[in-house]
Amino acid sequence: MTKATTSVVVGQLACQKDSFCLDNFQTTVISCKELKGTPTKYEVELQDTILFPEGGGQPSDTGTITIVSSGDIIPVKYVYRVGLHANHMVSQYIEPGTKVDLTVDSEKRIDYMQQHTGQHLLSALLESQYALNTLSWSMGGVPKEKNGIAIELEPSDYFNYIELSRKLTEEEIKNVTTLMRKYIVLDPQVITVKERNPQETVTDDASFSKIPEDYDMTNGVIRTIHIGNLDSNPCCGTHLNSTATIGGILISRNQTSVRGTNSRLYFMCGNRIAQYGEFANDTLLKLKSSFSCGETQIMEKVEQQKEQLQKSNKRERFWIKELAILEAKKILLNLKDIKGRTYLLKDEFGTLEYLLAIFKELSSVLKEEQNNYKEYLIVLCGRETQTKTGPLMIISESGEKINEVSTKLSSMIETLKGGGGKKGGKWQGKISSFSNNDWDSLAHYLNTDYMEQH
Ligand SMILES: [Zn+2]
Repeated sequence: MTKATTSVVVGQLACQKDSFCLDNFQTTVISCKELKGTPTKYEVELQDTILFPEGGGQPSDTGTITIVSSGDIIPVKYVYRVGLHANHMVSQYIEPGTKVDLTVDSEKRIDYMQQHTGQHLLSALLESQYALNTLSWSMGGVPKEKNGIAIELEPSDYFNYIELSRKLTEEEIKNVTTLMRKYIVLDPQVITVKERNPQETVTDDASFSKIPEDYDMTNGVIRTIHIGNLDSNPCCGTHLNSTATIGGILISRNQTSVRGTNSRLYFMCGNRIAQYGEFANDTLLKLKSSFSCGETQIMEKVEQQKEQLQKSNKRERFWIKELAILEAKKILLNLKDIKGRTYLLKDEFGTLEYLLAIFKELSSVLKEEQNNYKEYLIVLCGRETQTKTGPLMIISESGEKINEVSTKLSSMIETLKGGGGKKGGKWQGKISSFSNNDWDSLAHYLNTDYMEQH
């Protein structure tokens, strides 16, 4: 086995020279270093590679390394650049000198190339049409992890964005979309890459400002991407051969402000548009069916529903208040009849809002008619059947009485937590898991011991 000792530098990798070489690429392992951590990972450098190392706004490729002699397939999760070297992250050791065969996850790579090349063209058009420079850009739909767990992406996370110094008008979005379509469908431009020694004098308009600081300018190569005569830009990424294969453009009307007056323009290209379209279509179909209407009436129906909801909320608040006045009157009558002690239990829709409305009525009367209500003890408890939770209030002029009842109830109902009313007033709590047993024993206690103690 002849050991290869030098690798092709980043800038001249096979993936950069031919973006469409996506499998059947034979090469040799140069080195394999163990990386610390759990689980153990290895950093593999190959003589050359078709797996693109993350850079220039383009995410890393994923793919596989197949050991030619054994046929063993090793997944490559991540490829990254260190100086002029491309490192492949794998989970097993591969002996230097081993002949291997590479495969790129081609669907992902072509999607990345469509977004990336689309960004080049869109940036070029924004500059030529509106003198708007691309301040930064970010590719959407890139898998992300948090603490080792993959974050699920929303359909709208597949939009890429370009940061500009201002928002685009509706008219400008329309114009730039038309122009993009012109170069995709009617007048496709050939995309070429020129390689240049960084020492050479700059003769075209491509600037060096985008070259990463840690890139070795003495031994490296500067790659300039030319889109017909429309644009030239230094970029290390992988690109399509023609603007035709960008395959389509969708620019969102949703622009967001960042850093003061800057704005993000969201767009997607190629197959992503169809995937987004499928999602949007499914959503529209479900909405059409639940509203029993056509697409164009959906917004009208939503507005109607919102209005109806507001009306019924208002109505519900009205009736809660009316009922609370009646309940409060009943409670106050009971206080007089049954020597200052009473309670209220409300199942099914016994919400905190309802109890608070009763409390509000009670407290104003108790305050106004202090002389008639010198001593009182009131327990208000509700339960919401749907959530199996419930509010509970103990109201008295005496902190001692409140403490006695709240201690008793807390010992009976495991999930009752609350506080307040140490010097009299209101103790308020919540039962976070209100079982039927809890309900029955509470009702029994209130009806017997509680009422009999005076
Ligand atoms: Zn590029």
